[in-house]
Amino acid sequence: MSDLKGKTCQFARPWGPRCGKPAKTEHEGKFYCGIHNPVKRAARQAEGRVKLALKREDLRIRKARKEAGEEALELLKLIKMQDFPANSLSYLQSKAQIILAKAEGKS
Ligand SMILES: [Zn+2]
Repeated sequence: MSDLKGKTCQFARPWGPRCGKPAKTEHEGKFYCGIHNPVKRAARQAEGRVKLALKREDLRIRKARKEAGEEALELLKLIKMQDFPANSLSYLQSKAQIILAKAEGKS
């Protein structure tokens, strides 16, 4: 690594100055510090994208479960109604199937 001695990081954003920290690596003819190493930066950015995708999926599932819970509550209220037609079992079953699919993230 003696060829890095005295070299500084050449990373710069279009609107900013060069980093200028001591270089720790060379990549495609340019020198970079540990923070701006293009390979490490790409890995960090990929990791960030994966975390964001997981967070979005988690939020989607939580939202679907919350909606399913609210719909299940409405269905229970409907069933509790005393004048609810006794021959409506298939209707209740289809509603329950929709709610369960939502709770399981299938809709
Ligand atoms: Zn740098």
